[in-house]
Amino acid sequence: MDSIGVLMPIHMNSYLEQELQKRFNVFKLWTFPNKTLFLKEHSSSIRAIVGNAAAGADAETIEALPNLEIVSSFSVGIDKVDLNKCREKGIRVTNTPDVLTDDVADLAIGLILAVLRRLCEGDRYVRSGKWKKGDYKLNTKFTGKRVGIIGMGRIGKAVAKRAEAFSCPISYYTRSEKGDLEYKYYPSVVELASNCDILVVACPLIEETRHIINREVIDALGQKGVLINIGRGPHVDEPELVKALVEGRLGGAGLDVYENEPEVPEELFGLENVVLLPHVGSGTVETRTAMADLVINNLEAHFLKKPLLTPVV
Ligand code: NAP
Repeated sequence: MDSIGVLMPIHMNSYLEQELQKRFNVFKLWTFPNKTLFLKEHSSSIRAIVGNAAAGADAETIEALPNLEIVSSFSVGIDKVDLNKCREKGIRVTNTPDVLTDDVADLAIGLILAVLRRLCEGDRYVRSGKWKKGDYKLNTKFTGKRVGIIGMGRIGKAVAKRAEAFSCPISYYTRSEKGDLEYKYYPSVVELASNCDILVVACPLIEETRHIINREVIDALGQKGVLINIGRGPHVDEPELVKALVEGRLGGAGLDVYENEPEVPEELFGLENVVLLPHVGSGTVETRTAMADLVINNLEAHFLKKPLLTPVV
């Protein structure tokens, strides 16, 4: 298989790159100064793309690669892959579900605790020596708070399971009610937001879920409510979120993802009720290794004409 051209648009993980290079002819796009020239010279030898949550395969890239057969994404979210274009051209698409679920759900709980219990602020309080001048202020209890979840798939369910251990009543919104779940279902995001203290976004980014968190939802969540986004940045109308936090219309936010990564609105930097992470939901050594293995196993299966492990298209 070492003659098969595999394109990586950006650097994503050293282990993934090394393992791919052992098996395929890997083109690291970021090492080529002139992308147009690169495509002119190498486009016909590329049969696979390995993308991720930041860079996948848009229509232009797909059109530029006449022999592309598969896009294997180093992520579960495939919002950076033009799925319609892939379907139209018979290009297969795979992702990395399940192996990252626990980490992302763990991080959601971590963000909830960090926001409510002011973990980052408390840490800064100790490091700056302020503790010597007086005790830290009181913060907010997590146990028993009402947790609402948008998207009750693999990650949503894993967040719910963890929150149940904190005695939290769980409710959710998805396009259709899940008959097998005992959690309370709300048929709209506004109703869900009106009936929870903490709202967790865990659905895929598709056209209908872009700005699923808008001003109306933020206001329904209210002055004491906390928004946790471990989905994708464009789920949230970010200027509206910033305004609500600055004006005190929302209680707090824990964010792993942003509309225009790695840009983060600077107005958030000074707010104590906000915890900001650099899109690290699946960012542990263990999980990124498992994700890399899944990417490679999907590519090998494809080129050996075996069934794909985790097909999307
Ligand atoms: P999943 O198992 O496919 O679950 C998706 C859930 O979202 C399902 O319950 C689905 O239910 C619901 N959903 C789909 N469309 C919806 C809509 N229009 N409105 C409301 N709910 C909708 O996916 P997953 O593995 O849990 O992953 C979820 C997302 O998490 C990924 O797509 C990815 O973007 C994000 N993620 C982020 C990180 C990170 O680093 N922060 C890491 C991994 C994943 P219905 O179909 O019934 O609506």
